[in-house]
Parts: sequence; C-alpha cells; structure tokens
Amino acid sequence: MRFGFHIWIGEGFSKVPELARKRRARTIQFFSRNPRTWAVSLIPEEEVKKFKVGVETLGIKPLFLHMPYLPNLASPRQDFYLKSIDALSIELERAEILGARFLITHIGSRGEASEAESIERLIKAINYSLDRVRNKVTIVVENTAGQGKQIGYKFSQIKTVIAGIENGERIGVCLDTAHAFQAGYDLSQRDGLEKTLEEFERLIGFDKLKLLHLNDSKTPLGSRVDRHWHVGEGYIGNEGFKNIVNHPKLFHFPGIMETPYKREEDDIRNMSKIESLVSPTPLF
Ligand SMILES: [Zn+2]
Ligand SMILES: [Zn+2]
Repeated sequence: MRFGFHIWIGEGFSKVPELARKRRARTIQFFSRNPRTWAVSLIPEEEVKKFKVGVETLGIKPLFLHMPYLPNLASPRQDFYLKSIDALSIELERAEILGARFLITHIGSRGEASEAESIERLIKAINYSLDRVRNKVTIVVENTAGQGKQIGYKFSQIKTVIAGIENGERIGVCLDTAHAFQAGYDLSQRDGLEKTLEEFERLIGFDKLKLLHLNDSKTPLGSRVDRHWHVGEGYIGNEGFKNIVNHPKLFHFPGIMETPYKREEDDIRNMSKIESLVSPTPLF
C-alpha cells in the first residue's frame, strides 16, 4: 500500500513536497484553500509550478484534493445548496490546476429532509458539476460516521449515489476506516473486516474504490461519533490495521492518514506504525 497524509498547505503549495518527504508520504491529500471559509483564494502560478515539480521529483502519486468543510451537497436549503454546487465546480477546476486526478467530498448532511431526498440532491449536484466542468477529475465520495444528520454511512446509500451518476467514469469511493467503524462496520476483527469487504464488493465494487483513509477511531464500534485517532492506538487497533493493510483486496490501494496532528513527530510516528504493520509474508 502506498501510504501518505493529508498535508497542510498553510505555508503555500511550494512547501508541500518537502512536508511530504519528511513524512515519507508516497501519496498525499490536501485542500486547495482555507477549508473553513467560502472565500476562494487564487493559487499563484509560481507556487503551482514548484509544487508540481516537487511531487513529480519525489514520485508522490496519486494526488487527492479534498473539498473544503463548509459546502453541503445534500443541503435542503436552496441557497446553501446552490452555493455548495458552485464550490464543487470550482474545486473540480482547481484539482486539475493542481494536477490532482481525484476530488474527495463527504456525502453530506440531510438537515430536516429524509435520507432518500438528500441522496437525490447529492446526485443532482454531482451530475450538474461533472457536466459543467468537463475535465479528467474524478469525484470521490467518502463514507461518513453517520454523526448527527450525516448521510452516506451505509454502503447501500453509497450504492444509490453511484448508480445515480451519469458519467460513471468520473465517480469513485473513498473508504475511511474510522468512519466505517463508527458507523458499525467492525474493522477491528478479521471476520468483521471480511464481512465489511464482502458487503462493499457486493454493493459498490472494488473498481469504484480509489483510496482508503487510514484513521483509527477514538470512539467505539457503532458510536456514530467522528473522532480520528492515531493508527493502532484506538478501537480498531494494531491487529485491525494489520489485517487492513495486508488484505489482498486492499493492499494495492493508496492509504492516506488523517490522524491528529500537533507536531511533525505525530505524523512520523503514525507512518512508522503503519509501515511496521506491513507483513513481509502473506497474512491471508
Ligand atoms: Zn476521511
Ligand atoms: Zn472524519
């Protein structure tokens, strides 16, 4: 598995390759701007050039852009919904500018609407944006923990989303291990992992999977509370991650960690941990 991190862009895109190198990241995820606002900042051309040369030189791939936090592509509030669709279209363009083949988005939150209605709104938002921005960027929907009014915590819901997308080549799925566990898929146990993957294969299919988010969970199985934790130190645990990173159905996918980050050492510790769990001989 190619391991990597979500890398902070606060010091500019030109600094990203070095931050990735220090963490031994072979694949990365990032935002294109401050994720906590609606403001769209320009990306200086010189910064993009240095960024692209840097990641290319280090052989870092694939590149994943993550949507900012505020948009909700399933919002029942029309003004908010339209604003969110605009944000999705803008990020599709920015992904191409930054050389990212994939744009990751959470499935969204339903507010007072039903799950079925919300999924329909999300499908329309994605179809509209893919039609409006005709480039090579694939939208990747990420499973959620099912916290509050979040939708997209069951594989059956993700199946409905995928089935509704007109351009099947530009839609994919990200499996976040913490979110899946919090939603009730027991990835800490070998039989739970097998059951989860069997359901994923049956409802979604591994051809749709583009990456894993390798986060441990600070909250127990089925908590529906989204708290990421250091690899091996949460409820999924070392054994759980050992099974995940060595599983024949998963080991060739990129694995991005979104583990808690205060100092660089935190990331390096998580990288050392996940690397140490890769078995030199087949486990399955
Ligand atoms: Zn995630
Ligand atoms: Zn999360």
